[in-house]
Amino acid sequence: MSFERIKEKLNILADAAKYDVSCASSGSNRTNKNKGLGNSTGMGICHSYTEDGRCVSLLKILMTNYCIYDCAYCVTRKSNDIKRAAFKIQEVVDLTINFYRRNYIEGLFLSSGIFKSADYTMERLVAVAKKLREEENFNGYIHLKSIPGASDELMREAGLYADRLSVNIEVPTVSGLKLLAPDKNYEDFTKPMLKVKNEILQYKAEKKIIKSTPKYAPAGQSTQMIIGATGESDKDIMYSATHYYKNYHMKRVYYSGYVPVAEDKRLPAIGSQVPLLRENRLYQTDWLLRFYGFHVKEILNADFPNLDMDVDPKLGWALRNMQHFPVDVNRADKAMLARIPGIGMQSVHKIINARKFRKLNWEHLKNIGIALNRAKYFMICDSSKWEKRDLEPSRIKGLILQNSSGKFRKEYSNQLQLFS
Ligand code: SF4
Repeated sequence: MSFERIKEKLNILADAAKYDVSCASSGSNRTNKNKGLGNSTGMGICHSYTEDGRCVSLLKILMTNYCIYDCAYCVTRKSNDIKRAAFKIQEVVDLTINFYRRNYIEGLFLSSGIFKSADYTMERLVAVAKKLREEENFNGYIHLKSIPGASDELMREAGLYADRLSVNIEVPTVSGLKLLAPDKNYEDFTKPMLKVKNEILQYKAEKKIIKSTPKYAPAGQSTQMIIGATGESDKDIMYSATHYYKNYHMKRVYYSGYVPVAEDKRLPAIGSQVPLLRENRLYQTDWLLRFYGFHVKEILNADFPNLDMDVDPKLGWALRNMQHFPVDVNRADKAMLARIPGIGMQSVHKIINARKFRKLNWEHLKNIGIALNRAKYFMICDSSKWEKRDLEPSRIKGLILQNSSGKFRKEYSNQLQLFS
């Protein structure tokens, strides 16, 4: 196989992989001073986090962009008239090892369109990981995509070679899936997820008894949902995410704003704005649910099915629940401190430590680095001055917005209104 052909395949299959955000970051550029294979990999390198929290660079590619399915939202769908390519197993192994030796990458993120069947494709992904581990003695990070519908045996084998496995649910609801990917069954996604969850639990339990038990997918499993391809509300999306965290022990759910890739009356038209701000608000909500003790129904419910795009979800919740404020920073427990808008967990810990030594006033709070621009309307301290006074929530929101410069403000997306 010529160098030029490999380079061409790399261009096609790294480009096709960029729509998958479940390896935690977009592509990045690296300069290759030696004019080697690395020149063409700008869009093929992404970053991810290992089991122990290290950030690693990954070669991010598809095994093939041929696919027997025709999911409307996907650039790889069979009806799309695009240039196709497929790597051989050994080519992916060689690329990974060569890039690893040149220090361009620390691991591999390998996904794929579906060649002939789920198992045929999954077998090839597993074969790459197996060769890397057993023949090349490769100890770098491997993230394998689990192909929906793959058999239990292959999923079990995949986890023995990969650090992380992921099945992308793509469409957040079963009805949306039926509309946009009618060839696929919901169970094709959930079956491998359940298998991975159970294997992780089983291997962990066995390792406690037999120390030599191998690790199974030590960085866990993740999934991705496309946002804005169908008319789901933020409530639908976050309830769905909560379901996957709870029932399949997801390490992460990723939210990927739909990039219009097809003229299809079921989808937003080509040229529609990618809902980046909405994507950001969903990530903020996800964070509040996982680390700040919020329950999804507090933030999204029948009365508030969509997130406020003007303000972050914690501020939105606080403005609707002023009965909980002001919070006294000298007395409140950790959970309530964490609910003050603008106060992150690091600040919560700083406050708890600092108040062991004195009663805190505004000056003390500033001195320990607490950002007060939003928080001051929702808290009191050892001072007679309280910024909220008798301000209405709408007035507080106005004052906060006046002084903020959100990075997505200019790109405010009207994606939701497409479905109203
Ligand atoms: S099965 Fe996967 S790769 Fe194939 S069209 Fe659907 S989403 Fe795209």
